[in-house]
Parts: sequence; C-alpha cells; structure tokens
Amino acid sequence: MAEILPQHPEFLWNNPEPKSSYDVIIVGAGGHGLATAHYLASRHDITNVAVIEKGWLGGGNMARNTTIIRSNYLWDESANIYDTSLKLWEELPEELDYDFLFSQRGVLNLAHHVSEVRDSKRRVNANRLNGLDSEWLEPDEVKEVCPIINTSDNIRYPIMGSTYQPRAGIAKHDHVAWALARSANNAGIDIIQNTEVTDILVEGGKALQTDHRSGEDREAGDDADRAADNGECASTEADLGEQAEYFLHVLAQRLRNPAQCAEVEGELIAQILEGAQWLVDDPLGAVADLRRRGHLVTTPSPGRPAGKSWSAQN
Ligand SMILES: Cc1cc2nc3c(=O)[nH]c(=O)nc-3n(C[C@H](O)[C@H](O)[C@H](O)COP(=O)(O)OP(=O)(O)OC[C@H]3O[C@@H](n4cnc5c(N)ncnc54)[C@H](O)[C@@H]3O)c2cc1C
Repeated sequence: MAEILPQHPEFLWNNPEPKSSYDVIIVGAGGHGLATAHYLASRHDITNVAVIEKGWLGGGNMARNTTIIRSNYLWDESANIYDTSLKLWEELPEELDYDFLFSQRGVLNLAHHVSEVRDSKRRVNANRLNGLDSEWLEPDEVKEVCPIINTSDNIRYPIMGSTYQPRAGIAKHDHVAWALARSANNAGIDIIQNTEVTDILVEGGKALQTDHRSGEDREAGDDADRAADNGECASTEADLGEQAEYFLHVLAQRLRNPAQCAEVEGELIAQILEGAQWLVDDPLGAVADLRRRGHLVTTPSPGRPAGKSWSAQN
C-alpha cells in the first residue's frame, strides 16, 4: 500500500540561473520535456541540458489529464509505441525511487451499441495480434472486474460488453512530473521555470539560439502594450527603451516573415519603413502615430519582446 505523499514536495529541484549555452534545450517542462531530460541523462549521459518552462513545471496538459495509462490502441504503430511506453512506466517508480501511485488496475472501455461492439472487438483483435494483453468481456465478465457497475438491461444504454486491458492503469500526474524533475535536476540539468521561449534561430538546419523572456519581461512587455493601447507615453528612459525595442522587434518580425509581408501593401511597407526611421529619431511620436494609423497591432505575437538569448551548441 502506497504511503500518503505530501501535496507539495519540500525540495526536489533547484531554480538555477541559466547558463549562456547548452548542448540541448528542451522547450516545455511537461511530461514529454521532463521525460526527455530524464532519459537524456540516464540513458545517454547528456546533461548539459536546459528545460525551459513558461509557467511552472507540470502545469500544462500534464496537470489536467485523466491520468489513464494504456496501450490498447488500434493501429500497429500506436500499439507498439504505447506498449513500449507502458513497459517504461512499469519500471519508472523504482528507477526514479518515487512512489507516484502508479496503479495497474486495468481499463475498461464500455460498448453500448452494436457498432461499438464491432469496433471494440476489432481493436481487441488488432491488439492481440500485436501481443498486447487486450480482452473482450461480456457484460457478466465486466461485472466481475467492476462489481459496482450496472449491467442490467433495464437502463437507457445497457452495457453490451467491454474491451479490457489488465496492465493499463493510472498514476498521480503531478508526482510523476516532480519525480522526473528531481531526477533531471540531480543529473545536473537546469530546469528554468517562468521563462517563455519566443523564438528559435535556425542556421544550416541547426538550432543556434533561443530567444526567451522571463515572467518579469512578460509583465513588462504587457505593461508596455497596455500603456501603448491607452495612448500613454513612456515616462522613463527604461520604459522608452523597452517600448522601442518591442516595436522594432515587431517590425523586424513582420518584415522577416514572408507570409505576413505578402499581406502588407507596398504603401504600407513604405510607411512602416518610414516609421522605423522615425522610431529611431523620435520613438514616442513614431509609435503613437503608427499605432493611431493602425499599422502596429499588439495582438500576442510569437516574437515579442525578445529578451536574452541562449545558444544551443552543436
Ligand atoms: C483533458 C485531458 C485529458 C487527457 N487524458 C489523458 C489520459 O487519460 N491519458 C493520456 O495518456 N493522455 C491524456 N491526455 C493527453 C496528455 O495530457 C498529453 O498528451 C501530455 O500531457 C502532453 O505532454 P507534453 O509534455 O507534450 O505537454 P504539456 O504537459 O502541456 O507540457 C508542455 C509544456 O510546455 C510549456 N510551454 C509551451 N510553450 C512554451 C514556450 N514557448 N516556452 C516555454 N514553455 C512552453 C507549457 O507551459 C507546458 O508546461 C489528456 C489531455 C487533456 C487535456
């Protein structure tokens, strides 16, 4: 019987200052990012790695899924990749030395219609051809697996049978994230939270650099947006610099992106270029004017504002 675990870990990972470069940068500290970090370190001895997370680790889909772990997928490719994954799950609590309440209690997928019965049986047969522990259960067998279920005929959608995978189960997802994070951290991998990757610069097919901004940068950028939206002027040199940097970045993004450029009329390009020069000479006036004429739009853009950069070596 698993011991009841604390709701929050006391200390499982550091919050390091990012280094200027890494061999590998993983974007997103969800299940995939954290598992990639763990396996890079434990299987490939690659530890000069950063995991960059815009929020808090394990706070994306990982925080809100149904936690079902199974491999009874229809297609050969899916069944095989998920069963490889299920086998990894079976080793993981011991490997990570963390009881994340992995429980192989079996998963039922109920069928309430003849078409569902047909599809479900097809899936079971396909799974069995792939060597999976997949079974078709008649209603009385479903009742044996799950005694509280109502298998009577006198209900609106009677149960006509079910697929059943005994090795499938559940795990406590936030604890899985914490366990993987602790393992990666112990291997020397940097987990950097509250930092959003805003761009990946690629040259010759290799990612050379990621642009990112911290939560503070994001707030500052959003403040600048709000101030500009309200027609306010930046009051300090720092504000001014920030707004100018941001708008120059937006302009550069637009001019770099052919799809966006194609939408821009020639006249508008001329005005934007004129505005860019004006921005250098008189940033506040230029920004206010471009904004008034609707040539600068502060909808969330993938590239605003560029913060510091890190390099990915190799
Ligand atoms: C309601 C629901 C139920 C589900 N049920 C199941 C289930 O029962 N079984 C199952 O196997 N799967 C289930 N899933 C799917 C499963 O949750 C996802 O496949 C899985 O969480 C994906 O992992 P991930 O690491 O790719 O994504 P996430 O866990 O979402 O992690 C991605 C992370 O990247 C971060 N990020 C995004 N952009 C940036 C950026 N630019 N810079 C920095 N960080 C960034 C996000 O903040 C997030 O933390 C369910 C999903 C949902 C939504």
